[in-house]
Amino acid sequence: MPQWQGPRIRFKCLLCGECCRLYWVPITHKDLYRIHKATGLDPFDFAAHVPKDAVGEWGVPAFLLSDGRAHYLVLKKRLDGFCIFTKLKDGHFICTIYEARPIACRFYPYVYVPGDVVKFELAEGAAKFCPGIGKGPVHDLSAEAEAALLREKEMEGYKEFVKTWNAFASSSPEEASFRRFLEEALRWADGGGTLIGTSRDLAW
Ligand code: SF4
Ligand code: SF4
Repeated sequence: MPQWQGPRIRFKCLLCGECCRLYWVPITHKDLYRIHKATGLDPFDFAAHVPKDAVGEWGVPAFLLSDGRAHYLVLKKRLDGFCIFTKLKDGHFICTIYEARPIACRFYPYVYVPGDVVKFELAEGAAKFCPGIGKGPVHDLSAEAEAALLREKEMEGYKEFVKTWNAFASSSPEEASFRRFLEEALRWADGGGTLIGTSRDLAW
């Protein structure tokens, strides 16, 4: 089990769904791939993009599209604000892709603070929005720490992919559609394919 630092507080998720409604969930190519494999869905049906200049700095890679703006990759939301994978069942909001849920979803109500040690803080506003804080036993963050290590590894790959993509989008903006981005992200996550091989040479 990895070592971690963070608040030692009582917490038990009450499945109220607030965190699945309040936030955009940033995802990586690997999250995209896992959800696609688990559900069989076309990524275009569950992924969306939000312009960085509209939401500010998130500390994750932003990719260029043919509109010339930088965007973040996120899960789609329904009109009521909930993530499209949220489902109301017996009075509780459950995640329909729980095993394949994005790594970002595995931390709430904590946030992972990247650094030399695996460190967590309570998410801003969590004390107000999350009714699970103060319930149940003192929460051990070992599972979250494992997810944090996986996030570090996958984020490096995502950074490399977005850097390659942005070089392509800068040179061929007319081809830099969101659908193309998703297709290339899946190929990159799969670790193979002829296009991904050539893309690494910036020869799209
Ligand atoms: S806000 Fe807290 S209690 Fe509600 S679903 Fe999220 S983690 Fe669980
Ligand atoms: S993927 Fe699951 S846990 Fe994450 S926001 Fe959507 S419903 Fe909630």
